[in-house]
Amino acid sequence: MIRQYELVERVKAYDPTADEGALNRAYVFSLKAHGAQIRASGDPYFSHPLEVAGILTGLKLDCDTIVTALLHDTVEDTLASLDEIESHFGSPVARLVDGVTKLSQLELQSDQTKHAENFRKFVLAMSKDIRVLLVKLADRLHNMRTLSFIDNDDRRRRIANETMDIYAPLAERIGLQMIKDELEDLAFAEINMDARNSVQARLDFLRREGGDIVPRILEALRGMLAGHHIRAGVEGREKRLYSIWRKMEDKNIAFEQLSDIVAFRIIVDSDADCYRALGFVHGAYPMVPGKFKDYISTPKPNGYRSLHTSVMGPESQRIEIQIRTREMHEEAELGVAAHWAFKQAEAGSDGKQYRWLRELLDILDNAAGPEDFLEHTKLEMFRDQVFCFTPHGDLITLPRGATPVDFAYAVHSDIGHTCVGAKLNGRLVPLRTRLSNGDQVEIVRSTVPAPSATWEGFLVTGKARAAVRRFIRSKQRKEYETLGRAIAEKTFREMGEPFAEAVIAQALPRLKLKTEVELLVALGQGNLTGKDFGGACFPTRRRPGVASRALSLMRGRSGATKAGDAAIPIRGLEPGVAVHLADCCSPLPGDRIVGIIATGIGVTVHTIDCETLVSFGDTPERWLDLSWDHDEADSSVHVGRLSLVVANEAGSLGELASSIAKSKGNINNLKITSRSAEFFDFLVDVEVQDARHLTDVIAALRAIPCVSSVERARG
Ligand code: MN
Repeated sequence: MIRQYELVERVKAYDPTADEGALNRAYVFSLKAHGAQIRASGDPYFSHPLEVAGILTGLKLDCDTIVTALLHDTVEDTLASLDEIESHFGSPVARLVDGVTKLSQLELQSDQTKHAENFRKFVLAMSKDIRVLLVKLADRLHNMRTLSFIDNDDRRRRIANETMDIYAPLAERIGLQMIKDELEDLAFAEINMDARNSVQARLDFLRREGGDIVPRILEALRGMLAGHHIRAGVEGREKRLYSIWRKMEDKNIAFEQLSDIVAFRIIVDSDADCYRALGFVHGAYPMVPGKFKDYISTPKPNGYRSLHTSVMGPESQRIEIQIRTREMHEEAELGVAAHWAFKQAEAGSDGKQYRWLRELLDILDNAAGPEDFLEHTKLEMFRDQVFCFTPHGDLITLPRGATPVDFAYAVHSDIGHTCVGAKLNGRLVPLRTRLSNGDQVEIVRSTVPAPSATWEGFLVTGKARAAVRRFIRSKQRKEYETLGRAIAEKTFREMGEPFAEAVIAQALPRLKLKTEVELLVALGQGNLTGKDFGGACFPTRRRPGVASRALSLMRGRSGATKAGDAAIPIRGLEPGVAVHLADCCSPLPGDRIVGIIATGIGVTVHTIDCETLVSFGDTPERWLDLSWDHDEADSSVHVGRLSLVVANEAGSLGELASSIAKSKGNINNLKITSRSAEFFDFLVDVEVQDARHLTDVIAALRAIPCVSSVERARG
């Protein structure tokens, strides 16, 4: 407990004109009035008003306020009357005590006060003299510090909620940052102990893990400023548990870095030095756009002045820096109390000293949300750009709306090609997420390049779009080339000739093609048939085409042919040959296809990758080169078959059906091939126009969360 003479000395230290006698009388009056009353903590009740007075001496408040603090509970809780107080201490003190008493009575009814904002206004209205509010806040702070001694859970919880909703915001409004922080942390511990402990544990872990990163950053900042001959104190201040928690909640982020929890502060000699220091900080480290705030030229309504900025600091981590003078610093920590000390010194005794109080109250009365107002008037210089950082702290500038994939391609096309995931500020996000200013982007890469055609739907940078398109085109070309080579080799085999590139080279001018690769791609794409290719390679030979050879074989056996099915537009067949599409793979116009001659049936058409074809590997005479004779404008429908694995959950079938319908497909048949507790396996026949249409249907299905896999049926 603070001793009587200690209290007097503390006040005298910052206010030599203080009325020593009044302080002593108030001390004794309160001590006697509270008498043998005991706090829940077991301490004598008087320890409470004394501690409240002690808190207020820390804010350097005037003598009347300290006297009021000592007396603040006497009218409410003891036999003392307001008249008594007025006669002993004068009417100004009596008015202050009365104000605090009324606020305390208000507190008793606060359960009925539903809306915190109304209640805060009420408190303000009741504290026309801001000192009433200051005493009330100090009173609440001490009660919160001793909250754990209260046995009743509901009462503890109610007091903590009220502190969080009413008193902490009020402390913030009048600039009492330190008191606001402590109130919030104490209330947080009561309201959500689990969250508080987990933040604390994470903090301890990061502190151990991060080792000496904070000292290193401090060292770098100090060295940098000293190099520019700026006299500056640099310190790192750990943010409060509750403010870390709220940031995590508001922005739904995990805190990954120690620098997230430490704010750095540069304290300089003059206003001009603030801006000079800012210039050097921005010169040395890339700034995080959108984070810079100049509260010196435009102070906050509560009087707060400082420069705020965020940069990618010396350790390539985002750090927050506040730059201010010593005077601004004291004001920031003490709020009105600092004002009090400064203004009191210059105002003298003619009553002007209260003008700042009235000004402050005016601001508070009008402040529906002045902080927001300031935010909105801040210049947004780079409206159409976003600025993001690599994990190493390099700045990457992108157009607004850019995604992590754009970011990856902006760094390097290899990173783009292998991009499979992205973390924004340590959190995994979908690749189509729009980046925001200041995001730190980490690209998750695979070992093999696999850009997806679906990316083109959300990419915004030309560089990324072009790279994806180029990659996909060249990959398709490679596939066509491989396929073309297989067809070429087969053609040679069928003609009984050894495969020879020299022969192909000679055939190029006859086919009006320039390179062998071009020829193989044309073969693979079906723009050149195997028959024409064979003819070009061996123009002097007049062998019967494979197809007609096979057909004569068929005719010989079956003796009859059905008319060619007009609904199946296929090139490479003799007229009148019976043809049907294989059930196993359901080929569609646009697919690469081959025909298999089946005795008595005709020609069965398979996709080139149908697994059934393996069984015809040793009977090459039965294979026919076929291609589609399909006009893209043709609107006839064909049936494609899909094999799906879908999560066994309510509504998944409905989603499936509506997705297919949205893609303008039509379900023709649906068969469940197996089912387990978790998944269904399906075969679905879908009416589509061609292979590309079916690809669209597949892409849409893959976007549904309950769909685990979708593929063309492959035999
Ligand atoms: Mn009290």
